[in-house]
Amino acid sequence: MAELSESAYVEAETTRRIAENEARFRAANERVEEAWTRLGASEQTMPFVCECGRTDCLLVLRLTVDQYEQGRRNPRLFLCAPGHEITGDDIGRVVQRESSFVIVEKLGEAGAIAEQADPRRDGHH
Ligand SMILES: [Zn+2]
Repeated sequence: MAELSESAYVEAETTRRIAENEARFRAANERVEEAWTRLGASEQTMPFVCECGRTDCLLVLRLTVDQYEQGRRNPRLFLCAPGHEITGDDIGRVVQRESSFVIVEKLGEAGAIAEQADPRRDGHH
């Protein structure tokens, strides 16, 4: 069995922690969208939290339901503020870049975690 180096271990842990944070923020955003849609205010922009996965990120994105839905069309996609995207081999890549938000696709283990944590996988939507 191959031994993992210390740095590889730390990196795997970080990937997992970031992915879990992203999943948590995404779940929060799903509730924002539901509440907003119930109020019939879907034409206006809503305050969504940045899904970059950094624990200290408190940025709020103002998005319409349509913009938000662009980032929900695939469970591996996350919406974050421009400049907050975490990208790299086997981590993530930008699939859409707008002036007010960026959509990142998670790759590798981060993508697998994102799919497992998809709040829509049970078919509510
Ligand atoms: Zn952020």
